[in-house]
Amino acid sequence: DKGLEQSKTSFFDKLNKAVAGKSTVDDAVLDNLEEVLVSSDVGVNTTLKIIERIEVRVSKDKYLGTDELNLILREEIASLLSETNSGNESEFTVPQDKKPHVIMVVGVNGVGKTTTIGKLAFQFKKQGYNVVLGAADTFRAAAIDQLQVWADRVDVPLVKQSMGSDPASVAFDTLKSAVTQNADVVIIDTAGRLHNKVNLMNELTKVKRVMQKVVADAPHDVLLVLDGSTGQNAFEQAKQFTAATEVTSLAVTKLDGTAKGGVVIGISDQFKIPVKYIGVGEGIEDLQVFNKFEFVDSFFK
Ligand code: GDP
Repeated sequence: DKGLEQSKTSFFDKLNKAVAGKSTVDDAVLDNLEEVLVSSDVGVNTTLKIIERIEVRVSKDKYLGTDELNLILREEIASLLSETNSGNESEFTVPQDKKPHVIMVVGVNGVGKTTTIGKLAFQFKKQGYNVVLGAADTFRAAAIDQLQVWADRVDVPLVKQSMGSDPASVAFDTLKSAVTQNADVVIIDTAGRLHNKVNLMNELTKVKRVMQKVVADAPHDVLLVLDGSTGQNAFEQAKQFTAATEVTSLAVTKLDGTAKGGVVIGISDQFKIPVKYIGVGEGIEDLQVFNKFEFVDSFFK
């Protein structure tokens, strides 16, 4: 889609525009830079943090030109990402000491939660893991149906009940079934609504508690799925879900159709949660293990 391609301006383009014709990093350049970062969805707090670091380095290194600004900025963003994102992995692996390894997936409807679960199941299966899915987002019939479509596509079992049934009961059945099958990985879809924070918290707490009747330390990972193209909404959702439950990792979707990958930088910095996966399209293969070095490279292209 050429139109879409043309309408998005990359961070790198904006950055170059911000420093065009300047020979020193003065206040005006820093102001422009701040604007570029904020408009790329890095978020105000993280932007200010980055600007402060640039200011320090500009004076410390007696930095005069703008040519090296890209390099410095790149280093600072990489170092910021390193504070929460340790790995440089590219493989879809799960720890082998927990069997089954239980992933509880949370996020609001429409962010790509079902698609991400399907893509993950596909990747895990490709690695040779036995995967079991659980449809504990019982609020919408469509959520269960869509997950079934993915389960059929990937050819992995899905444990489900009828719409409106108790999510905790589905989670319980799923873990029971996974243990019986000696599964390696369990991925459980959960509540996708945020209309009532207390309800959300209660529901997730109950799902966890009931899971632990089967696997004492489950879930081993609480994966929050966020739509990377929604900017401030993604920040707001991160805030709400981290208040409702202990989120241990993030999947940021739809980074293919947007120049706003800055969400990844801001959210992992502000919530101190590592980004584990990124969604880069609608296809089954369009999920990547987050690699901060590759991410920074693509951000500066
Ligand atoms: P859910 O309601 O959160 O379960 O969302 P779905 O998984 O049904 O996804 C909503 C829409 O987003 C679907 O049309 C997906 O194909 C699309 N989608 C999901 N992930 C990505 C992605 O990484 N890139 C793009 N372009 N679309 C995605």
